[in-house]
Amino acid sequence: MRAIRRFTVRTVLPEPLAALDELSHNLRWSWHAPTRELFAEVDPELWADVKGDPVAFLAALGSERLAALAADEGFVGRTRAAAAELHRYLHDPLWYQEQRSAGGAELPRGIAYFSPEFGITSVLPQYSGGLGILAGDHLKSASDLGVPIVGVGLLYGAGYFKQSLTRDGWQLETYPLLDPDGLPLTVLREEDGTPAQVSLGLPGGRRLHAHIWVAAVGRVPLLLLDSNVPENDEAARVVTDRLYGGGGEHRLQQELLLGVGGVRALRVWSRLTGAPEPEVYHTNEGHAGFLGVERIRELVAQGLGIDDALEAVRAATVFTTHTPVPAGIDRFAKELVSGYFGGDNQMDGVPVERVLALGAEDYEGGDPTVFNMAVMGLRLGGRANGVSLLHGQVSREMFEGLWPGFDAREVPITSVTNGVHSPTWVAPRLARLQAERLGLDQLTAPEASSGWLDPGRVSDADLWAARAEMRGELVAEVRRRVRKSWRERGASPAELGWIDDVFSPDVLTIGFARRVPTYKRLTLMLRDPARLRSLLLHPEHPVQLVVAGKSHPADEQGKRLIQQLVRFADDPAVRHRIVFLPNYDIAMAQALYPGCDVWLNNPLRPLEASGTSGMKSALNGGLNLSIEDGWWAEWYDGENGWGIPTADGVDDADRRDDLEAAALYNLIESQVAPLFYDRTADGVPGRWLEMVRHTLATLGPKVQATRMVREYVHGLYAPAAASGRTLGADGFAAARDLAAWKARVRAGWPQVRVDHVESAGIADAARVGDRLTVRAYVSLGSLTPDDVEVQIVHGRVSEADMIEDFDADPLALTDSYEAGRHAFAGEVDLGSSGPFGYTVRIVPHHPGQPNVADLGLVANA
Ligand SMILES: *Cc1c(COP(=O)(O)O)cnc(C)c1O
Repeated sequence: MRAIRRFTVRTVLPEPLAALDELSHNLRWSWHAPTRELFAEVDPELWADVKGDPVAFLAALGSERLAALAADEGFVGRTRAAAAELHRYLHDPLWYQEQRSAGGAELPRGIAYFSPEFGITSVLPQYSGGLGILAGDHLKSASDLGVPIVGVGLLYGAGYFKQSLTRDGWQLETYPLLDPDGLPLTVLREEDGTPAQVSLGLPGGRRLHAHIWVAAVGRVPLLLLDSNVPENDEAARVVTDRLYGGGGEHRLQQELLLGVGGVRALRVWSRLTGAPEPEVYHTNEGHAGFLGVERIRELVAQGLGIDDALEAVRAATVFTTHTPVPAGIDRFAKELVSGYFGGDNQMDGVPVERVLALGAEDYEGGDPTVFNMAVMGLRLGGRANGVSLLHGQVSREMFEGLWPGFDAREVPITSVTNGVHSPTWVAPRLARLQAERLGLDQLTAPEASSGWLDPGRVSDADLWAARAEMRGELVAEVRRRVRKSWRERGASPAELGWIDDVFSPDVLTIGFARRVPTYKRLTLMLRDPARLRSLLLHPEHPVQLVVAGKSHPADEQGKRLIQQLVRFADDPAVRHRIVFLPNYDIAMAQALYPGCDVWLNNPLRPLEASGTSGMKSALNGGLNLSIEDGWWAEWYDGENGWGIPTADGVDDADRRDDLEAAALYNLIESQVAPLFYDRTADGVPGRWLEMVRHTLATLGPKVQATRMVREYVHGLYAPAAASGRTLGADGFAAARDLAAWKARVRAGWPQVRVDHVESAGIADAARVGDRLTVRAYVSLGSLTPDDVEVQIVHGRVSEADMIEDFDADPLALTDSYEAGRHAFAGEVDLGSSGPFGYTVRIVPHHPGQPNVADLGLVANA
């Protein structure tokens, strides 16, 4: 019989065990093994049954067991000690507090981090893939460093979907409903005990209300907005039903709630908890971009002009772009957006045209009918970044059109290479070995010293034993999951005896798991099925392959790729050496990465912005075998794995796949497998382990999310906070000045031009060390010489007379004439030999500009 309503009855803990409530609700347990052990030791079997979920575990224990535990002095003592340890973690000064007291007072008091998904633990399934896991790792590392971040997201009633397979290998999606009361969340309440609320207007006079659930991610609160509340009409209740579920309008409503509602939730949070208002707003991809519109509305309500408000908001906003794949960028029909920001629903003081202008693709090649969330992100974010060096460069080229007249190099998008949270991703087995060899009880530091890797401390035999044990655990997990999947596909237990022989603990294990968009090329390995079969079944050097990944429910092509792979893996001739495991999620990932010897990634370069699964593999001593894209393009050093040669520039996609697949097969056959099976007398692969040690020692420190968060703090958050403070001081005086100056410069710019350039100092044959003197006559119309910088742009030139790797040095004002005409002059040293060229340009100049391209205005000679 179907229930008409469901809810979770919460456990009432006996007083001596009261601390278990906080220990189970603070998600720090998800990266703190001793806390998990405290629960597990009570009833290891039950702990396994509830899949390591402390809230479910306590609920399942029942009041009798709890009463018995409350009488167990040993357990009560351990619980209190664990709670005391958690409190130290939550309140002791950490890295950030040290930075602030060591003169880093300009560091922000608070940072808001908005993301459409957060992947923190499998217990809280509010993510679909890399973007969410990264957000989760960002919050956890911020917590470990003491960075005062508040996360803002949505609580999806069914999260993403659960994946299973039909008999025929077709992806099936189910959407089990989550009950927030059974999750490690607490609803935020007003002082009178009623749930705190935010609400926003919808077209037609309707309103969208949401409650605010709070997850404690160590020191970091994560606010999740939930529209499934009684105050809403039916249509509004389902706004947060699923992650990336619905079509355009549903998605737009989710993004409105995330951006506009998210800012309102932050205000409620500060009011109720006394937390400082964020000084910096960071948006993880464009989905949350409407947060800027809401902050503009707030400032306009305080009396600022809309342009003044825009400057103040931009100064304190950081935008991170995550994809060079157009399908990864949200674009809405402009009409749709104007329905939500216009008419009856227009925000006070924020005309709909101004909102539409923020997301307009009003540049060459743009589509005038769409509203682009990434473009809005760049217009509202005074600082922007990509997520690896290569992706930074690709993004500068991709968005160049927003800064016409500037070279791609000058497009103001930097990069911070992604990282991963090691306490979450390092297998307990390896963490134990590390701690043991460092002489610790357990590994608590997010970045352990690599000193344990000295062969004097950990022998090849010890390291190999750990790796083999991790592989063995994966083999058991693979068999368990393959069995479960076949049962779901309709097989009877009697048909499944063969599963006992799936995978071997001694065979070279290669992993490949990721979402299944086309560019990740799930089936590249199937390009030549006979070749793959012979690698799997090689008599001396066999390989086993574990594959996983979800396709977006609307992506039929992705589902076909999965089916192709499943059909190949179903073949009795190879099914013991290749498996597809359904329902890739954090729990599977944590079992997968440590057990794989090699982590495979073969995206279509340069479409993988960063990728992070390979980093998690590296932290566990896995070797990457990857196309040189994303993070691997940056950190592959020839000794830490293998770079799969790419066929960049081969336009025929099929041919390119053929070439890259062949390169992959060759690498496995001629290098990877022989090295793995090259054993010394005691059965240990010495050369392989050298690479493992090298990976752990050199990649280990780089791939840390703590490294990433530090870079965000110093490179983006601190400068954004400083700009925000400057512009906000004295009733936003500087914001008003900056806005007025920009308006004046924009109005006057059509009259700005370089009239004439003269040079001297170079004879017919220029030599290194010569000095070139340049004099430029310019017209500035109504602008003054202080409003601009006249620059000589110089450097090596290509055959097509393009100045390639250039410097831009300011020229100095020498004379002023009537009618806004001026002369500027300066010198350049010819420092190196070769073809040289220069030009002169005029750009706007103001101390409040974060970069030269800020206004997108330039007058070239
Ligand atoms: C790390 C991770 C990802 C992202 O991996 P990519 O290499 O960026 O594709 C996706 N899903 C899960 C469950 C992960 O743990």
